[in-house]
Amino acid sequence: MTQPLPDALREKIKHRLSFYEDLGLAPFYLERHASAALNSAAPAVAQPIEHEEEILPKRAPKNATPAAASGTSASAVVGAQHAAPQLATQSAIENRVFPAPPKTSNFFALLERVENDSLLKIREDIGDCTRCKLHKKRTHIVFADGNPKAELVFVGEGPGADEDATGIPFVGRAGKLLTQMIEAMGLQRKDVYICNVVKCRPPENRQPDPEEVTTCSPYLVRQLEVINPKVIVCLGATAAKTLLETDMGISKFRGQWLDFRGKKLLATYHPAYLLRNPPAKSEVWKDLQKVMLELGLPVKKAKPA
Ligand code: URA
Repeated sequence: MTQPLPDALREKIKHRLSFYEDLGLAPFYLERHASAALNSAAPAVAQPIEHEEEILPKRAPKNATPAAASGTSASAVVGAQHAAPQLATQSAIENRVFPAPPKTSNFFALLERVENDSLLKIREDIGDCTRCKLHKKRTHIVFADGNPKAELVFVGEGPGADEDATGIPFVGRAGKLLTQMIEAMGLQRKDVYICNVVKCRPPENRQPDPEEVTTCSPYLVRQLEVINPKVIVCLGATAAKTLLETDMGISKFRGQWLDFRGKKLLATYHPAYLLRNPPAKSEVWKDLQKVMLELGLPVKKAKPA
């Protein structure tokens, strides 16, 4: 059994950690703490539920060397070559781009680029879409919300009932949590761009099926090409697996920087999952802090509500 730390030592450690936090080194410590917690399977770590984190057979990651599969050189990824040693180490940890999970298709690579594409053109091409069965029960096509020049794009799964009724993504309960998360990052919804893999509501909020995803996702890819953000955050397994074209469970690569057509992509848990599993909020907050660092936003200490 572990002995409790003497009060004086506990105070000293507390002060030292808050000093490191003030230096902006908190994510480094949190990362270590998180991996320790994960390794010891602490009960505070949310367990996989429903489709957010399906249990898949363990696969050894191929090309375990950082940056190997992204086509980006390690020095370009790590950057800050001349920074102080501690900061360089932190930068390396925060900015490392991991090899993408194994692909199960190469569908997006075969998509033809649209000359002089624009969001207006994409919306016009979608039109009053009847390309898949989701059109039958929809009220509104939910195209997107936010800033077309955003550096940060959030990609969700598909509209729910509130989004279907209003035509605006992420306005229901999960959307309110997403809005809080964005505000906790020091941003507002109008600063970011928010969209989904499918633009019509899957009945009963079921997951979109592969045919619906294949039909609709090329419009998402065009949106991302036009906006050309610095960072794409996939909210949940459907967005992550769609853009990365992988079957691998999100828990295997959540919180890692990956490459999507030359842009940095990070997958985190869906806000709807967080509503069912509040302990997972701290993992998501760590992911968002990585995004804030990448975007040069001041990293806050407070967790979102
Ligand atoms: N969930 C999503 O994935 N997208 C929305 O727009 C709303 C809820």
